Amino acid sequence: MGSRPFQEIPCAVCNNPVALSADLSADENGNAVHTECYFKRISNTVGRFRALRLRWQKKLGLDGWSD
Ligand SMILES: [Zn+2]
Repeated sequence: MGSRPFQEIPCAVCNNPVALSADLSADENGNAVHTECYFKRISNTVGRFRALRLRWQKKLGLDGWSD
């Protein structure tokens, strides 16, 4: 038992699992993000909105969301 002590949480920026023991950080909304991704994101406002859009596209099953 206990092969995975922690639940995997997708990074809000890159959607890869965040290792809670190592590189977990949280953005201003409390979403789990890699520390590295967060610093990339806050230095790139466009990237921030793109990441949010991708999350909603996946969640809602949308594609072709135009700019
Ligand atoms: Zn990430």
